[in-house]
Amino acid sequence: MKVLVVNAGSSSLKYQLFDMENGSVLAKGLCERIGIDGVITHKRPGKENYKSSAELGDHKAAITLVLNLLCDPELGVISSISEIGAVGHRVAHGGERLRASSVIGDAEIEYLESIVEINPLHGPPAISGIKACKSVMPNVKHVGVFDTSYYSTVEEKAYIYPIPYELYEKYKIRRYGFHGTSHRFVCAKAMEMLGNKDAKVITCHLGNGSSITASVGGKAVDTSMGFTPQEGVPMGTRSGSVDPTVVTYIMKKEGITADEAEKLLNSKSGLLGVSGVSSDCRDVLIAQGEGNKRAALAMDILVHYIKKIIGSYIAEMNGVDALVFTAGIGENDGIVRDLICKDMSYLGIEIDNDINLKLPRGTQADITKAGAKVRTLVIPTDEEYMIALDTFNLVK
Ligand code: ADP
Repeated sequence: MKVLVVNAGSSSLKYQLFDMENGSVLAKGLCERIGIDGVITHKRPGKENYKSSAELGDHKAAITLVLNLLCDPELGVISSISEIGAVGHRVAHGGERLRASSVIGDAEIEYLESIVEINPLHGPPAISGIKACKSVMPNVKHVGVFDTSYYSTVEEKAYIYPIPYELYEKYKIRRYGFHGTSHRFVCAKAMEMLGNKDAKVITCHLGNGSSITASVGGKAVDTSMGFTPQEGVPMGTRSGSVDPTVVTYIMKKEGITADEAEKLLNSKSGLLGVSGVSSDCRDVLIAQGEGNKRAALAMDILVHYIKKIIGSYIAEMNGVDALVFTAGIGENDGIVRDLICKDMSYLGIEIDNDINLKLPRGTQADITKAGAKVRTLVIPTDEEYMIALDTFNLVK
């Protein structure tokens, strides 16, 4: 079966077509600037990329163009749409009800619409992408794979915030957790590498957005992101966790609204906010190398918070078998991995820098120092494959 994976953003739509016979990617691409002056990039392994401007008024126009390209005699990889057996949709938020990957019917769309208020950024484009795909491919099943659903195993004590309980009942304010599809994928790989189905694993997804998850036997027990992706470790432009009173104090002092405060914490904080240089870890490291003190401080804070979360999860699980690094920074930046793992030998974490610092980009590897109690692994994430696999398993 061939499965199309779709990830719709507010002005973009990413796609990958998988052949589930062997898990290979037949084609993938990206529609950008939807509703503005559309651009499409279409890639097939081993062939030249195709990039063109296009009329992309909305998500429906984008997915129609994608399907035309996939079936195109020259640029395509299938002869007709009927070869696509199912469509998997990445959906950031499944709320409290969509606790596992599910076939999306009218009731599911209605539920996703009902929780847009707690997912205002990612909800509307995801729903619009699903509706568009369903309208042009009405005869196949559409499956939603939710970033939050991996956290359906987290216990109440870890997801209820210590605020008046009625606020949870009234507004569903609780920890949901995000990046679940990525954590689920790399945790499963880690357990495979360890040959241990009950392993205690801490997965660090460190990219533009970063989150850390603790799992036992492939079931999440805690995660650093919360009600929104704002909580947890510092990120490219997000602050991560801060004393909540800092927010209300800033609002009063600067005379800003709640929306403005949210924007400040979401898009002007983190690496960018502290360093004043960039949200991109590579730029901040270069600036640090050139002697920029605030860039060095931004990196120090990042590493400090990540260490604190790792330590707290080891306490929560009463141990850890594997520490895993993934996503842009986690997969590619040996220096950051080294800084995080430094001085954690008490906890059994020690890495071999001969392997770690020389690791080629995108390589799966065991970077553990010989004799260390905890295995430290680098595992490239593949959320799209996980979405394709869930979709395939649900419809086959
Ligand atoms: P997103 O969360 O948007 O998916 P990514 O997972 O692609 O982001 O991660 C982006 C981050 O990864 C950036 O901070 C970037 O600096 C970092 N990164 C990407 N490639 C490298 C690299 N080769 N070395 C160091 N950092 C890298």
